[in-house]
Amino acid sequence: MNLFQLIGQEEVRLKWDKLMNSGRFGHAHILSGRSGTGKDSLAFYVAASLNCQSENKPCGDCRSCRQFQNLEHPALQLIFAMPRRSASHTDPFAGIKEGEMTTINAELAKKVQWPYYHLQIDGANDIRIAGVRKLRKDIYLANDPGTTRVIIILRAHKLNVEAANALLKILEEPPAGSVFLLTTEYPERLPDTIRSRCVTHHVPDLSWQLIRDDLVAKKGLDQVQAEICARISMGDLAAAHRYAEEDNTFWLDRIRNTLNALAREDFVSVYQQVLFLKDKELQTDESRQQFLSLLILFFRDVALKIPAGETALWATQATQVNKLFPDCDNRAVIKAIERTKDALARKVHLQLALTALFFELRKHLRGKTQV
Ligand SMILES: [Zn+2]
Repeated sequence: MNLFQLIGQEEVRLKWDKLMNSGRFGHAHILSGRSGTGKDSLAFYVAASLNCQSENKPCGDCRSCRQFQNLEHPALQLIFAMPRRSASHTDPFAGIKEGEMTTINAELAKKVQWPYYHLQIDGANDIRIAGVRKLRKDIYLANDPGTTRVIIILRAHKLNVEAANALLKILEEPPAGSVFLLTTEYPERLPDTIRSRCVTHHVPDLSWQLIRDDLVAKKGLDQVQAEICARISMGDLAAAHRYAEEDNTFWLDRIRNTLNALAREDFVSVYQQVLFLKDKELQTDESRQQFLSLLILFFRDVALKIPAGETALWATQATQVNKLFPDCDNRAVIKAIERTKDALARKVHLQLALTALFFELRKHLRGKTQV
């Protein structure tokens, strides 16, 4: 059963199991948390559990579970951002061409296979009123006996004002036997009126160790590659899986070479590193942010004197830096890199920013003994 697989989040799952069995399960919930933590997966897990016909919910095997697994359960209403193709206020699919429909279905099929997947639908900028109106039409009809109707709104912060108002009306007179699950990375963007009608649940970040192990198991990466992807993903499983498609090991070499050059006070080499990074490997904004994140992680590990074995990445490198630069001012180093990250996000000239950074690093690596 792919759709309800939740990576980690054992405590969250137990909490929801308890909540669903408590008899005090509310009708509207917001699942908030950063991207890649498993909010959507949790929503599908809850939806399937509420309707599963077996003891061990969700069993993944009964008729209801199988229907959920294919997003075909009659009690499931899935709402997500759609492209605007007509002015229809009642049919979210109005004006959608056949080709577009094929794309949308293909995207949903990817989501079914792996609930961490983000739907990518051209022009789907917001959730409009048509989707909510259609829901309103269906939702007050009687449920099939023994089923709970579940309305899942993916990335609910994309609800536009009109749609949010229409949803609020439904939440104010909730139809019997219905549960609303709104997943979002930005709960603060939902209107207060909606938030006050829902219980908000936080879905915590995944640990990098968990993401690393998932990448080793599912993507066949080795420990080092998996750790790079896991750590630069900052707790986002979806991003980590994207990074796993690329080769990230060169960054380790870059970091090693740069540190070695800094240690030797070999500024020609440092400058060559800058040029190499600029011309070859830091072509996109995302790669720049990733590289600097990795550099920050390195110095965090140095500061924490992470024991060898804890991380496969740079145990020896970190020990070396501790030996070479016993007075290294790690806080200043990390701050300098964070400033560079901010600067690059504001499109400051890459070569200048990196040169300035490496010279600043040289100073902080010597730390207190510097005269
Ligand atoms: Zn079942």
